[in-house]
Amino acid sequence: MNVPIFLQPVFQERIWGGTKLKDLFNYPIPNNSTGECWAISAHPNGQSIVKGGVFQGMSLGELWNSKPELFGSSSPVFPLLTKILDASDNLSVQVHPDDGYADKNENGELGKTECWYILDAEPDATIIYGHEASSKQELEYMIQSGEWEKLLRKIPVKQGDFFYVPSGTLHALGKGIVVLETQQSSDTTYRVYDYGRRDNNGNLRELHLGKAIEVTTTPQIHIPSSYVTQKYDGLYITQFVSNSYFTVEKWEITNKTKLPAHPKYSLISVIEGNGYIFIQDGKYILNKGDHLILPVDCGPYEIDGIIQLIISHE
Ligand code: ZN
Repeated sequence: MNVPIFLQPVFQERIWGGTKLKDLFNYPIPNNSTGECWAISAHPNGQSIVKGGVFQGMSLGELWNSKPELFGSSSPVFPLLTKILDASDNLSVQVHPDDGYADKNENGELGKTECWYILDAEPDATIIYGHEASSKQELEYMIQSGEWEKLLRKIPVKQGDFFYVPSGTLHALGKGIVVLETQQSSDTTYRVYDYGRRDNNGNLRELHLGKAIEVTTTPQIHIPSSYVTQKYDGLYITQFVSNSYFTVEKWEITNKTKLPAHPKYSLISVIEGNGYIFIQDGKYILNKGDHLILPVDCGPYEIDGIIQLIISHE
């Protein structure tokens, strides 16, 4: 029988980052422009390290390769990546390729379909989510002529909102938003517009307009955004998305709750509250900001506490 695997996040400095990863989650951020917490990651650009237990000190990638029995997956690489992002300033408007395009053009990388659960948002916070161009030609024309106001769809967001961002969607987090992002394990971004900002060395950041125009879905497709919450004894489960890339759910636990064994390994992030998880003979504390993997073959378990979790799996 397996037990939970707790992970140590990796932090990434970003031009748009800030200090909210420390303010909200008490993470030991390395500087005052920390943009990303790679919480559950086996991507070579920033791997989580196992914290405690028999696998202490191993990277998630090593664990995936050497202990496949923990995961029971047929994917050649750990396919998911959980991040928390602090957008203290606007992120660049960007788009990601799908699997086929990334495989061909980005050295076999996965594509990047992602999704956002809004953890915190300032009152007038907005995101860029989709576009208004009716054809590739119009998209190209509006990008080349800088008609950003006309091209980009801007929508207001609040804490608790969820957005599915399939590959090919033009998007950007706006200033004053903290999100938990569940995504394919990929680091390929095509930047379309960066508000004319300069980096620490006074340079404009590189844009990737050709590739961006190639991969952007045109015209914009409708992305469904209504979710059902199911109520169990002491537990509310909201399923946000479930498709061939990932399933993402929010679990709100209000009471000691008995849970059946998971059929798949699962990624768990504690976004609010604290409590305990009881698995077999073990009792593990869960604190806000903790990230763990529940391997396959853990058996039935219990969670106690007043706690909110984001849970994802393949
Ligand atoms: Zn993105």
